[in-house]
Amino acid sequence: MGETNKIALVTGASRGLGRAVAVKLASQGMRILINYQSNAEAASETLHLVEQAGGTGELMPFDVADSQSIEQALQQWQESNPEEYISVLVNNAGIRRDNLMIFMQDNDWHQVMDTTMNGFFYITRRLLKDMMTHRQGRIVNMASLSGLKGLPGQANYSAAKAALIGATKALAQEVASRKITVNAVAPGFIATDMTANLDEKELKKLIPAGRFGKPEEVAALVAFLASDEASYITGQVISINGGLYC
Ligand code: NAP
Repeated sequence: MGETNKIALVTGASRGLGRAVAVKLASQGMRILINYQSNAEAASETLHLVEQAGGTGELMPFDVADSQSIEQALQQWQESNPEEYISVLVNNAGIRRDNLMIFMQDNDWHQVMDTTMNGFFYITRRLLKDMMTHRQGRIVNMASLSGLKGLPGQANYSAAKAALIGATKALAQEVASRKITVNAVAPGFIATDMTANLDEKELKKLIPAGRFGKPEEVAALVAFLASDEASYITGQVISINGGLYC
């Protein structure tokens, strides 16, 4: 079947890495379900870019931390597309609420956990059954250098991303026999809205490549992991960080 006509759900695809992933997968012939939380204008721009890349897509807003909204959106989509199933899932939506732990509020902790961990769990569980029935699936989870190394000021974010890595490895072993692969990507510093307020000039001195990465560079890796060619890679965490090793 190749990549053509596969259906991919990319969470947090209105901006940043998710948008770049959506456009890259679309350029390979996949139909893209563009999830976002609230930024409809940015999501429409992603759809426009998907179409410019020669692909097709549709918007699918929901809060990844809210299991009911997820269920509602996917149920509605399934009713309109009874013959179709989602075979590629990119769990990309994420937020950071940085603070030293001593100052960290309950909300900062829970919102980051809810978005990264619960988001992964609710959506992945929902889509697994179809992937297993069809014996085909690709799940790519957007982790982070922070989840491997731990970064001060990010105890919540590092914990959430480390948990995502653990879940990636466990689930990979559960579903490998059904031809479903589950991998994580761990970017270092990539130029998006999420890193816009960081001191790039100072931070890039720490990066052997001497620069922040581009969303398109991460998208190329995700697209490979989502492709048929990556069928024997599973349970892995692949760093993409310009040499900024742990
Ligand atoms: P970004 O530019 O801030 O974009 C975040 C995206 O996630 C937006 O599309 C946003 O939707 C969506 N989102 C946030 N909360 C959501 C929710 N509850 N439900 C649905 N969508 C939600 O971030 P980014 O830099 O592209 O980061 C993407 C992923 O890569 C995140 O998981 C992040 O942790 C990870 N990452 C990023 C870097 C980096 O350097 N940029 C490094 C390592 C890992 P709205 O537009 O509607 O708000």
